[in-house]
Amino acid sequence: MTSIPHLQLPDSETSCSTCAACCCQLEVMLITDTGVPQRFIDTDDWGGEVMRRLDDGWCAALDRDSMRCTIYEVRPLICREFATGSAECHDERSGMHGIYR
Ligand code: SF4
Ligand code: SF4
Repeated sequence: MTSIPHLQLPDSETSCSTCAACCCQLEVMLITDTGVPQRFIDTDDWGGEVMRRLDDGWCAALDRDSMRCTIYEVRPLICREFATGSAECHDERSGMHGIYR
């Protein structure tokens, strides 16, 4: 397996700009109303509101060219609390190294 140098960097050096928005493939529940546009919202099997994901697996609100969030100012609470460089962040990055851009 090819090693990915930036995965070895200290947490403070982890950057979203070197990541293919790995965390934007996770299910994101809407637990507070931050103003996410309705077109990006789906209902899950239990009736809860979640961010809609497209067939490629990424959140519908992600710009596929820039890999940046198009609703950053009103993004869900869960997205705000997902810390760059955290253990969860590194888990997502290491699980998706094949599609790094
Ligand atoms: S928080 Fe982590 S997993 Fe999410 S885009 Fe930034 S570097 Fe990638
Ligand atoms: S709302 Fe934005 S930050 Fe949250 S998963 Fe979607 S694209 Fe990523």
